[in-house]
Amino acid sequence: MNIGALLRTLLMPTRESCLACGQSAKLGMILPLLCERCANRIPWIVKPRCPICGRAQECPDCRRPEAGARAFSINRSAVLYDATMREWISAYKYGGAERFAEPFSIMLEQAYLRMCRERSAAGAWQADLVTWVPVSAERLEERGFNQAELVARRLAKRLKLPACDLLTRNVHTGKQSFKSRAERLRNLDDAFSLLPNLDPGDFKQWETIGSAKHPGGSFPIQVLLVDDIYTTGTTAAVCASVLKSLENVIDRPVLVYSLTLARS
Ligand SMILES: [Zn+2]
Ligand SMILES: [Zn+2]
Repeated sequence: MNIGALLRTLLMPTRESCLACGQSAKLGMILPLLCERCANRIPWIVKPRCPICGRAQECPDCRRPEAGARAFSINRSAVLYDATMREWISAYKYGGAERFAEPFSIMLEQAYLRMCRERSAAGAWQADLVTWVPVSAERLEERGFNQAELVARRLAKRLKLPACDLLTRNVHTGKQSFKSRAERLRNLDDAFSLLPNLDPGDFKQWETIGSAKHPGGSFPIQVLLVDDIYTTGTTAAVCASVLKSLENVIDRPVLVYSLTLARS
């Protein structure tokens, strides 16, 4: 490269293209890979109407009697699962657009911070660690990555919380959308378990979690469970009940908070 070309490269502002629409534009400050127009299309859930699942509309699901027994405390989602989000999430999961993990983790961070503000009414609240809903070995091979793990790890980094690989998906449960609610529930019941090679010694480091806040007491470990889409809440509930079985390992209560990118 000659000196003139080098100077031009250094002085010319770099034209960047938006991850979502591909247009070359000035990209946002908060969501660094998206142009302003695309960022304005994000259907944020600013005020959840359902205190349990964080839905923005009236919620019949959480009024079902069995909903009260769900193993997670609450769910909060960053955005509505609208046409824009459907397009972006499918580009991320199936279209090789893994760079969406960056804006998605920022969106999850916003939802998490809102969750903290909501829960802090009774004193400062924060999660102790981040984990995610696993995919089957078959899906992992097909996609090359676990979409939930990728955003969860980035989120954990942003929040300076430990990211812990805790769950495994046992069987390939097939396309959920073709099944009835009852079939889905049966099918998912034994779909997840704790990773077989979890070493109780690994939980040594958990002993200090939160001890500054609650010296001496048996206080709960607050686990943030990350996934991409919340539909009926079944996946979150099943994963949460498996995570609660950690109580036998660490001899402390485990509380699970579900954090999802989109609420359908
Ligand atoms: Zn754009
Ligand atoms: Zn609800």
